[in-house]
Amino acid sequence: MSALPQEVHNRRTFAIIAHPDAGKTTLTEKLLLFGGAIQMAGAVKARGEQRRARSDWMKVERERGISVTASVMNFDYADRTFNLVDTPGHEDFSEDTYRTLTAVDSAVMVIDAAKGIEAQTRKLFEVCRLRNVPIITFINKMDREARDPFDLMDEVERDLQLEVTPGSWPIGSGPDFRGCYDLIRDRLVLLDRRQGDVASEGIQCDGLDDPKLDQLLPADQVAKLREDVAMVRELCPPFDLETYREGHQTPVFFGSAINNFGVRELLLSLAAYAPSPRPQHADTRTVQPEEAKVTGFVFKVQANMDPNHRDRIAFFRLCSGHFRRGVKLKHMRSGKLLAVNNAVLFLARDRELAEDAYPGDIIGIPNHGTLRIGDTLTEGEELRYTGVPSFAPELLQRVKLDDPMKMKHLRKALEHFAEEGASQVFKPLIGADWVVGVVGPLQFEVLAARIDAEYDIKAKFESCGYDSARWIECDDPVVLKSFLDSNRSALAEDHDGALVYLARNGWQLNRAQVDYPKIRFQKTREQN
Ligand code: GDP
Repeated sequence: MSALPQEVHNRRTFAIIAHPDAGKTTLTEKLLLFGGAIQMAGAVKARGEQRRARSDWMKVERERGISVTASVMNFDYADRTFNLVDTPGHEDFSEDTYRTLTAVDSAVMVIDAAKGIEAQTRKLFEVCRLRNVPIITFINKMDREARDPFDLMDEVERDLQLEVTPGSWPIGSGPDFRGCYDLIRDRLVLLDRRQGDVASEGIQCDGLDDPKLDQLLPADQVAKLREDVAMVRELCPPFDLETYREGHQTPVFFGSAINNFGVRELLLSLAAYAPSPRPQHADTRTVQPEEAKVTGFVFKVQANMDPNHRDRIAFFRLCSGHFRRGVKLKHMRSGKLLAVNNAVLFLARDRELAEDAYPGDIIGIPNHGTLRIGDTLTEGEELRYTGVPSFAPELLQRVKLDDPMKMKHLRKALEHFAEEGASQVFKPLIGADWVVGVVGPLQFEVLAARIDAEYDIKAKFESCGYDSARWIECDDPVVLKSFLDSNRSALAEDHDGALVYLARNGWQLNRAQVDYPKIRFQKTREQN
């Protein structure tokens, strides 16, 4: 095989989805530990602390203990190259999270063994389902009091309408948790609570009837294990690679991230079963990852990672081709050529200049605002990737300034945050006040803190009387004109100049929809 198909074959680009507190951070750390990307557990947090210390705007993040920014980590394990795309866990930042999921080929769903499926798990799962993203389930915290494994499997199946199949089976739980039987590789993996960051390879067994099991485990636990597995095998279908890859079946692993337990099995399964980069749909055709020419899209923009520079990093997901440093890429939205000399690869330990990158990889392209969420870059071909959405904000507020002289600066700040995807900004056609829209209430606080820290502007957010925003589309210019003429005071433009209808309440929105059936009041707008 030539290099490109081999590199594509070896790539695994995935995200971890979880309800806050289920153990996503802990699992991330352990995955990186196995990948040799960090030397000791705790490094993810330690690195985070350093970064936080450097930038003021993350004060909110620090005080609230939530992670606002998503990051990407690239590491190798078992002859594979993994790109782990971290998703912010707090529900206030779901829009960012949703977009992150457009950049991955599979996901790991972490569930707390005592709690089962929680609200955020369900929401994130629904986004994965929309795109048929295959999911491996990791039931975490088995070292604590846990719910019955049958009960948990049943909940995943019923609640998410997803076929489940056991990848491993737990032996006991809480203080009696002894380990798992790896049903795929036929290994008994015992938990050693003393071994810190070293994980045992497990003991090869010749099926569940192997007498080794009787020597290594108490008689009652072996009996229960054999009985449980016989039952679960009867109840659940066997693992089927195709069904998993189509997103209809999830293999379930049990473990304890904090004890490193089950992490190796999870990684080996990702290496063996998770899909390599998928063909991607563009407006004109479907692009195969093995195609020689580079194409890809921006799914996230992060500004001011270094507050001393007004730089922005566009997170670019490569969909096809072999990226080489210095390659000239065409920016579809502006038609301009961009020589990409200083892109970075996010190795878990550090950022490194990207000399080469392959489909599935995510590179960071520094720029001064040219690149926006949803932008496509190609080596010349006219095509645009679709499907990176912008969501109608659920909360709208007006921005007020202490010093009205700073209006121009404020506008720049707001446009910049809108381009970054942190919020949306609407300029009403009538009146001078800007309206800002977000998905969760905490985002207003984060924004005010960032406007202060990055632009030295004191701004306040206050109620504006609107409760929803909808992008307006209409194929009939006469109807559109009539609508615009009679609703001028409720119209605004977003940062790209697209028309938006601001409604005071659900009734008013409903009324407009009834009165103008030919107009589409869109809740999402595809970025282009
Ligand atoms: P996140 O919010 O999903 O990122 O969750 P964290 O990784 O920060 O974990 C939340 C809490 O659960 C922390 O106090 C962790 O130490 C703890 N935790 C994570 N994994 C385990 C585990 O396997 N067993 C136990 N007992 N606690 C865990």
